[in-house]
Amino acid sequence: MTETFCCCKSGNKSDSCCGAYLSGQAIPATPEQLMRSRYAAFFHKNIDYLIATRDPDHREENDRQLLADTCNTTQWLGLVVMKTDTSQLALGVGYVEFAAFYDQKGTGRLHGQIRGQIHEKARFVIKDGRWVYCDGHLLPPVVWGRNQPCWCGSHKKFKKCHGAP
Ligand SMILES: [Zn+2]
Ligand SMILES: [Zn+2]
Repeated sequence: MTETFCCCKSGNKSDSCCGAYLSGQAIPATPEQLMRSRYAAFFHKNIDYLIATRDPDHREENDRQLLADTCNTTQWLGLVVMKTDTSQLALGVGYVEFAAFYDQKGTGRLHGQIRGQIHEKARFVIKDGRWVYCDGHLLPPVVWGRNQPCWCGSHKKFKKCHGAP
């Protein structure tokens, strides 16, 4: 089976969280659930799920290759959902602001790993009765406080975890 706790850092067991969505046993009922499950799909390199949960009107021809390249060079370390905007839920639109942290393998002349962060306000819409990822607005990286709980979900302070010198 999958890991005990879900990789999306929700604190729930995988089988009752994104694991159920990725296996098709359940359908995300909210934009946040869909957002978390897409993070989990990146984490588990589930490209079919990523394509299936993308708004068909925003799919690119080479999505599959791009996603495969991303999955193969990226190790996901943590996800923090910062804010959800449900004010337009009745219209079938929802927003989730999140920060996702990763290490990226250097390519070409760059060696080693580069720590990165995606801070995005993502837009989700309902298509055919399901939430799908529409597009996102990238925001400046979040500066993590030294005494804040680390974004990796370890419950340690940032300075004693991924923020340690
Ligand atoms: Zn999850
Ligand atoms: Zn950490």
